[in-house]
Amino acid sequence: MGDTARIMDGKATAALVRAEVAEEVAELVKRGVQPGLAVVLVGEDPASQIYVRNKDRAATEAGIAVRTLRPETDISQADLEVLVRGLGADASVHGILVQLPLPRHLDSAAVVEAIDPRKDVDGLHPQNVAALAMDQPGLVPCTPAGCIELCDRHGVVLEGSHAVVVGRSQLVGKPVAQLLLARHATVTLCHSRTRDLGAVVAAGDVVVAAVGRTGLIRGEWIKPGATVLDVGINRGPDGKLAGDVDFEAACARAGAITPVPGGVGPMTIAMLLRNTCRAASSLSGPIPSPSGAAGAGI
Ligand code: NAD
Repeated sequence: MGDTARIMDGKATAALVRAEVAEEVAELVKRGVQPGLAVVLVGEDPASQIYVRNKDRAATEAGIAVRTLRPETDISQADLEVLVRGLGADASVHGILVQLPLPRHLDSAAVVEAIDPRKDVDGLHPQNVAALAMDQPGLVPCTPAGCIELCDRHGVVLEGSHAVVVGRSQLVGKPVAQLLLARHATVTLCHSRTRDLGAVVAAGDVVVAAVGRTGLIRGEWIKPGATVLDVGINRGPDGKLAGDVDFEAACARAGAITPVPGGVGPMTIAMLLRNTCRAASSLSGPIPSPSGAAGAGI
């Protein structure tokens, strides 16, 4: 075949977004607003420990003040909700992130509902979920937002395209489908009961894979020239990370593709920083005009 897909470098794109966020943070600091992010980590889940460390480092680099709270693993539901509500009332905190999954004795949905929706930088509070569904402003989940940002920064035309999303989770599949729809793509949302997944994927100009199964999406399914966003993160028996897409085979057909690692993953953190910055900006009110006067300026 000879052709090989353009690699959409999420690491490089995320670095650009993070640099932009750092500038916005500096502007806010000049106005007397120090953006603050509170991360709540309960339990010892090893993947969560790594994610939280990475988020902490990236936010600190962008100039955001990060506070990681590690309550005892056996914290009660009521105490955790009190902690989260306390962060909502704390004016130095603009973003609240509760790292999921929580230990089994805790009700994640109720904890997420305790987050002030204006500070819900993961975009999981029902109020933000509703806002996305109703095309209203709100905080958008980071991984889906990162997928759209990657497309925008690589010149991928979404309007009028047929986007096929595989996976219907609340965290990735559903919100990315809604964002694609809002960008005027024709969206097909696939899941574990979809019949003949290969035939559906083969119709996609844009394919988003968010399942969590190595190589589920076969290279021969990809429409020639399609854009492939691989959200899946799977650790193989050799310890190596792989996506949901058979990368080598898909490269021979796709027009553009994200690698794993180094594709959608770094964008997730970049969008978390952007959400925190946006939350800080909107919570601190409109930028005062230089003359101190309000109004349309006519
Ligand atoms: P999930 O388990 O909540 O959802 C998986 C979805 O895949 C379900 O909707 C299910 O219906 C669907 N599915 C399962 N088997 C299928 C099949 N055979 N065919 C079609 N669909 C099938 O997972 P999630 O939280 O959405 O995460 C998906 C993947 O993305 C995981 O590998 C996760 O680690 C990864 N992830 C990556 C990032 C990132 O930053 N890159 C962020 C979140 C999740």
